[in-house]
Amino acid sequence: MQRISHWVNNKVVVGTSGRTGKVFNPATGEQQAEVDLASTAEVDAVIAKSKAAFPEWRATGMSRRAEIMFRTRELLDANRKELATFLTLEHGKVPSDALGEIARGIENIEFACGIPALMKGGYSEQASGGVDVYSIRQPLGVVAGITPFNFPAMVPMWMFANAIMCGNTFILKPSEKDPSASMFIADLLRQAGLPDGVFNVLHGDKEAVDRLLVHPDIQSISFVGSTPIAKYVYETGTKNGKRVQALGGAKNHMLVLPDADLDMAADAAVSAAYGSAGERCMAISVVLAVDSIADALIEKLATRVPNIKVGPGTDPSAEMGPLISREHRDKVASYINNAAGEGATVVINGTDKAKDAGFFLNPSLIDNVKPGMKCYDEEIFGPVLTVMRVKSYAEGLQTINDNQFGNGTAIFTRDGGVARQFQYDVQVGMVGINVPIPVPVSYYSFGGWKASLFGDQHMYGPEGINFFTRGKVVTSRWPDPRTSAVDLGFPTNR
Ligand code: NAD
Repeated sequence: MQRISHWVNNKVVVGTSGRTGKVFNPATGEQQAEVDLASTAEVDAVIAKSKAAFPEWRATGMSRRAEIMFRTRELLDANRKELATFLTLEHGKVPSDALGEIARGIENIEFACGIPALMKGGYSEQASGGVDVYSIRQPLGVVAGITPFNFPAMVPMWMFANAIMCGNTFILKPSEKDPSASMFIADLLRQAGLPDGVFNVLHGDKEAVDRLLVHPDIQSISFVGSTPIAKYVYETGTKNGKRVQALGGAKNHMLVLPDADLDMAADAAVSAAYGSAGERCMAISVVLAVDSIADALIEKLATRVPNIKVGPGTDPSAEMGPLISREHRDKVASYINNAAGEGATVVINGTDKAKDAGFFLNPSLIDNVKPGMKCYDEEIFGPVLTVMRVKSYAEGLQTINDNQFGNGTAIFTRDGGVARQFQYDVQVGMVGINVPIPVPVSYYSFGGWKASLFGDQHMYGPEGINFFTRGKVVTSRWPDPRTSAVDLGFPTNR
């Protein structure tokens, strides 16, 4: 059985805790590897290595850091296909989806290459007589990232690119369900010339996370995962004096108005709901269809859904792969199987596929969902599109704003005025106007509102630089005997 171990000081380090996790091939349902799960003592040892690497890395010139980041970008570009195979093998996503994830991750590396230009501070000459004032941004120290299973390559890149470029040393605790991508990326960083200890990978579960959350030498925690864990990470990390950004789950609504191009809306909803088997935090999970077009739209959805080709990523014709685990597949199936009992209409039931050895489901479509039903209130995170019928734009907007989550949303309309009103009123962090998955480009920042994000700073882009640096303001005067005098009053500007 293949064993996946930690990455410390640019080398693979075999775990000593005696605890391992199982890594499955979701397309076959078979275990294909075991991954070391770090003990508290192993976490402490990695933190010590990261701390030791910090002073030299911080002192490394920004142009040298950028050079390493540029090389990392070139290596990632040259190895896209190989990296994608790990995603298909362990996560299950089909190659086109895996390559898309990698492309969006590389955009974060490209952004980070330009960080020297964005770390410039302000400078005020002669703020007072002979006194200059200027601001600088400095790295935090050892920072940690804890990532989910659904983007094993991209989400780590959201975090470490900015963290490292800003001069921090970074510890990644990837999802234990698909840990190989992080090891592959770690080796590319080594090849790019990143010094020992600047980027370490620690595999683990709650034990490792809990230690990172309380260890005094960890300065910040970046987390992406489900809402209950995000909340726990935020509360525990901040209680222990750390800066925390914790991104949680989602329930993303797509509001389709009567004037929308219904074919375009149906194509967009199907792509955004079932891509990556619905295991995307920006997946559309609810279509809000205004009554007058609801029947027509559902018919268009229902004719498209059966055409989706479900299969393993090794089949070049497959468009949608399996779910991450047997337990998760069964949980998703339970939402579909319980929906009719809750009063919803199951238009297409994809649970037949659950008989396969791999963790597959076919896409499902559920109509007439309402708040109060489990399939609406909870994040399903699977290939299930639900439809809620609403009387008007106003009811659709209210439904979105009443939802506990606020990650992404989209409106489909030809009316610019209504779209602008929607962007103004909607209580959601990322908004698409005729764009179903509005993941911000790397020079904006990614993050939701409400139960989709705990903390103040969104991830990557400019907010990622703020998160990974601390501001300092210097007020300076150089000796000038002509102006020197004793003055016990509060400093005032003259
Ligand atoms: P998860 O919360 O189960 O796990 C995320 C990370 O937390 C993993 O590294 C895991 O090892 C760790 N973890 C799990 N249980 C823990 C515990 N009890 N204590 C401490 N650490 C724990 O999430 P997942 O199933 O890997 O990922 C899917 C979830 O992530 C979905 O809810 C999805 O919406 C969300 N997600 C959100 C975003 C976003 O940007 N908002 C992006 C991707 C995924």
